Amino acid sequence: MDVEEFRVRGKEMVDYICTYMNTLKTRRVTPSVEPGYLRTALPPEAPLHPEPWEDVMRDVENKIMPGVTHWQHPRFHAYFPAGNGYPSILGDMLSAGIGCIGFSWAASPACTELEIIMLDWMGKAIGLPPAFLALEEGSKGGGVIQGSASECVLVSMLAARAAGIKRLKHQFPTVDEGLLLSKLIAYCSKEAHSGVEKAAMISFVKLRILQPDENGCLRGQTLKEAMEEDEEAGLVPFFVSTTLGTTSCCSFDNLPEIGPIVRKFPSVWLHVDAAYAGNAFICPEHKCHLAGIEYADSFNTNPNKLMLTAFDCSLLWVTNRYLLTSALVVDPLYLQHCYDHTAIDYRHWGIPLSRRFRSLKLWFMLRSYGISGLQKYVRRHCELAKYFEKLVKKDERFEVCNQVKLGLVCFRLVGGPDETSQQIDDLNKKLLTNINASGKLHMVPASVREQFVIRFCVVSQHATREDIEIAWDIITDFATELIEGPDKERDLNEERARKHRAALAHKRSFFVRMVSDPKIYNPAINKTPPPIPTSPGTPPQPAPATPDTPSETESIQLVPSTPKQSSWISWPLAFFFQSVDNDANDLPLRFRHLDTMVRLKSPNHGRRGSTPGASPERRAPSPSAH
Ligand code: PLP
Repeated sequence: MDVEEFRVRGKEMVDYICTYMNTLKTRRVTPSVEPGYLRTALPPEAPLHPEPWEDVMRDVENKIMPGVTHWQHPRFHAYFPAGNGYPSILGDMLSAGIGCIGFSWAASPACTELEIIMLDWMGKAIGLPPAFLALEEGSKGGGVIQGSASECVLVSMLAARAAGIKRLKHQFPTVDEGLLLSKLIAYCSKEAHSGVEKAAMISFVKLRILQPDENGCLRGQTLKEAMEEDEEAGLVPFFVSTTLGTTSCCSFDNLPEIGPIVRKFPSVWLHVDAAYAGNAFICPEHKCHLAGIEYADSFNTNPNKLMLTAFDCSLLWVTNRYLLTSALVVDPLYLQHCYDHTAIDYRHWGIPLSRRFRSLKLWFMLRSYGISGLQKYVRRHCELAKYFEKLVKKDERFEVCNQVKLGLVCFRLVGGPDETSQQIDDLNKKLLTNINASGKLHMVPASVREQFVIRFCVVSQHATREDIEIAWDIITDFATELIEGPDKERDLNEERARKHRAALAHKRSFFVRMVSDPKIYNPAINKTPPPIPTSPGTPPQPAPATPDTPSETESIQLVPSTPKQSSWISWPLAFFFQSVDNDANDLPLRFRHLDTMVRLKSPNHGRRGSTPGASPERRAPSPSAH
């Protein structure tokens, strides 16, 4: 394709997108295809010779579109919104057109500088304290665009881990970093996104998952008790991840309580994940949720969730950028430049080296809509959720299961007085399955207070009251059919009989999977007690005590005590402890969200000459996991 053909095809592509948006209503919201559908439709190998563009676009319509879930469809009410405001689409187009890779200031100064300014604009609009802003006089803080909220949590945890190890190393200079690492423990609520657990797995640190209150809010006292108990057991708290606007029910952790608790522990990093809700703080009426933010070390939000900006655009701010960059800096000669002591080089702020010019789309959005235009969108989004809540409350067959503060409503059929909670869960699963299978409306489930609920999120940018009413009509029609239909009893029995099969299929089904967060569609995993390392193996010898360096047995216990059954701990080191003690090759290692069989070949058991390694394989969940 040369530049003249690109000029033509580019315009055609914009036309195609406009027609797609205008005719979305005529398509099924979810596709009716089976896994592997595309494999049979496309050739097994890449074409050797160039093909006409018309053929490519014909295949887009005939082969790709039938497998697309239409997130911008007015009947799409799953997950959280996926922004695609037109100015942001143009921003991504320009970014791809310029095609620069802004890993350092010198690699493309405008790319770095616009990002710094956009993060300061957004930080101010949200209401973050000046300590988070890069361009404030004397500030050590600043913001960066990451690819996802999960990455924001991970890099914050990595920075906290590096600071924690550094501090411990200073206290215990003769103790190996590996042992110090095994003492670190992080905290989050059971309502936190599974990305926190994944970050702990990657960072190889323990994570204690705490019980929130009845409104899904993590309270200061719960955190305090856990941290004190762990400290007494010889562990070192280093990171607390809180959430403002949780994935399953949009609950808010209590920062004003948590902040002062965290401050009482030396150098514990407080992170605030506001992936969805944080965008709403551009409205004065939602800024109250930010109370306590002055205690935080880092904060993230995704304008691609509630600020109409095309994915990917996850904003992360820190109050001390030097702690972040010192954890991630590597500086080969070929990346150095003469301004690297005075300019920001974003390659030290995240995992990848290469970075796109993502700030362009945010700039385009902020300028095209203005803060007032974006506030208007957020307000309508919240107002429509309140309207849906009102419709649910008017129908006594249903109940609302969360506090509706932004655009998410969790609801369920209440069931009959004689029905058990399992039967009511089954009834709601059936309702959701029937609705989703129809392709008329798409929603996903969640677990709220151990109950199966249906999440209804206002997603479409241009949603109206009429769209909400249409959605409610579809839901109530299916509910009536389910409750009053002649084959209700037969259906329920069938449902019970198919319990294991259905649960498995349910988990595997793309259409009911919830924002990569398994605990939401599998409530039982939240009840499973933590794995207890059976034996810690042979502890390393303690370093001899000197006047400045107490032996670690004096102040660091080598064997952590058994955690309380009421909270969960991911134990990364259990893997190694078990590998030392168990003679078996196959070790069932339980992570909170999946049963994993780790095939461990110790040097004694492995084939001669083979490298010891571990290959996790997913197993069918045990019946207890349902
Ligand atoms: N944190 C919260 C509160 C979320 O709701 C989500 C996703 O919905 C995430 C993190 C993960 O976001 P991402 O897909 O950007 O990693």
